[in-house]
Amino acid sequence: MKRAVFPGSFDPLTLGHKDIIDRALPLFDEIIIAIGTNSSKKYMFTLEQRIAFIKKTYKGVEKIKVDTYQGLTIDYCKKVNSDYILRGLRNPADFEFEKAIAHTNRKMSKIETVFLLTSADTSYISSSIVRDILRNKGDVSLFVPKAVLTK
Ligand code: ADP
Repeated sequence: MKRAVFPGSFDPLTLGHKDIIDRALPLFDEIIIAIGTNSSKKYMFTLEQRIAFIKKTYKGVEKIKVDTYQGLTIDYCKKVNSDYILRGLRNPADFEFEKAIAHTNRKMSKIETVFLLTSADTSYISSSIVRDILRNKGDVSLFVPKAVLTK
């Protein structure tokens, strides 16, 4: 069984995340969208809201599971028996950051990181810009799945 973990904050889920998940679906038997929780980080949406956005968006899609974890992503992968970490790449900054983490994870485990390049249509979308728009009462409907709009 090819199982991948897609780790992230998903604060909130965006069409950029959705693009990566949808395109990874044919590559794996199961994808666990794993929301990493870090007590020192401030989130706009509660864990429950972030889980609900993903569950609603992928309702009826058997291959998608949602979970939360604390600690190292590789330890979580071992716990759920996953050999792959899925990540998206948007730009050179993502690449440099992800490269160091992927090398480190490879050194510490056998877990491979599989990267999908962002689609041209969604490459500029980020949760942090979505949060900025929301803080300023703007319309984010072009950047997030419908489930995020109906909170
Ligand atoms: P993190 O805090 O771990 O970066 P995010 O929720 O911001 O969590 O992102 C999770 C993953 O989704 C990362 O691999 C990130 O590169 C990817 N991602 C986010 N937005 C996009 C996008 N627009 N296109 C492709 N990948 C994206």
